[in-house]
Amino acid sequence: MIFIEVEGGTQKEKELVTEVAYWCQKKLLPRIRKLDMIIKIQKLDIFADVLHADDRVFYMRLRRGMSLYDIVSTVCHEMVHVKQYVKGELRDMRQWKSRRVSDNTSYADLPWEKEAYKMEEGLALECFKELTFVPR
Ligand SMILES: [Zn+2]
Repeated sequence: MIFIEVEGGTQKEKELVTEVAYWCQKKLLPRIRKLDMIIKIQKLDIFADVLHADDRVFYMRLRRGMSLYDIVSTVCHEMVHVKQYVKGELRDMRQWKSRRVSDNTSYADLPWEKEAYKMEEGLALECFKELTFVPR
């Protein structure tokens, strides 16, 4: 079963994040039957991160108080990482598909980040088209 729970944040942030996360799951991983995800909206220095805790179990953290567009594109970005883990494209933050990524690769050159940054805007725009968010 697909289980996504959002904790913290305002009621509207919670609803928005839940909707976007489910939308991304259907878009990026339409065939999976199991996914367990807890998303926490909290005070954070970075925008977000995602931890692959166990097989198909993920913890995502999101910074509190982001703009509507930033919330949507950030959730899309992190969901690309979830897709990468579920499909086995990314493993242990160093293995990308069949190659080992060197530890001193800069953040911007990490292949999984390149893919996530490349996809986040398109996904966010599509998401805005398909979902009707209540303006805040
Ligand atoms: Zn990323």
